Amino acid sequence: MLKGKVAVVTGSTSGIGLGIARQLAAAGADLMINGFGEPAAVEALRKELATTHGVRVAYSGADLSDAAQATGLVESAVRELGSVDILVNNAGIQHVAPVHEFPIERWNALVAINLTAVFLTTRAALPGMLGRKWGRIINIASVHGLVASVDKSAYVASKHGVVGLTKAVALETATTGITCNAICPGWVLTPLVQKQIDALAEREKLGPDEARNKLLEEKQPSLDFATPEQLGGLAVFLCSPHAAQVNGASLPVDGGWLAR
Ligand code: NAD
Repeated sequence: MLKGKVAVVTGSTSGIGLGIARQLAAAGADLMINGFGEPAAVEALRKELATTHGVRVAYSGADLSDAAQATGLVESAVRELGSVDILVNNAGIQHVAPVHEFPIERWNALVAINLTAVFLTTRAALPGMLGRKWGRIINIASVHGLVASVDKSAYVASKHGVVGLTKAVALETATTGITCNAICPGWVLTPLVQKQIDALAEREKLGPDEARNKLLEEKQPSLDFATPEQLGGLAVFLCSPHAAQVNGASLPVDGGWLAR
């Protein structure tokens, strides 16, 4: 379905981004993957994605906390793969602390990566999409783009910002063949969440399974994690002709979190 399209997926060396990159490649898209990792492991991943799915796969180690590198990521995808038709803004970080103790440096890093980089890559990718009259921008926000939790001020603020930016871009491009939507996952078991499970286990002297269950019980009524594969499936749907009129939406994948 996506043969001939080029997808840039930020933060795709791990977790949700990798799940989305895999599904887009399985649907035929060429890929620019991005994120941190051991050079040998990243190269092995790049080759594996290319051979498994028979698509072209390039890698950029652009650090999205740096404005020039965020813009450069889109430019290098155009240079190496010819265009950017699908942009998945997925890279994100977390820091947990009460507002009055929140380190300013962590706040700035979170806003730079989770929000400003989404603006910068979108800004860089839109002219090409407008020229071709087709584009898909998919922002991986969070349930925390729609509701809050304690001790996550920077994350909640940045993800609410992503939901707002998604709507603004959707309106500006509404008649152009481009759509811009946000996916709002609840808990997904990735390294970002494993750190929070480990911290809960240590803080409350719980075993790994108890901590995992406690984390889920607090928020996610299904008592199960969403998976990177499920999020990848939704991203592929958003790129399909069936989703041409899905625009400016924030789509929860949260086991019922927001239904409470
Ligand atoms: P992860 O830590 O597994 O992966 C994050 C990816 O981003 C990695 O590839 C990492 O190398 C990359 N990255 C981090 N900082 C970067 C930077 N400065 N420049 C470029 N790449 C960078 O995290 P994840 O859980 O897969 O999260 C992915 C996205 O999904 C994030 O935006 C996160 O906020 C969002 N999300 C996650 C969950 C969850 O439960 N895991 C829930 C809701 C939303």
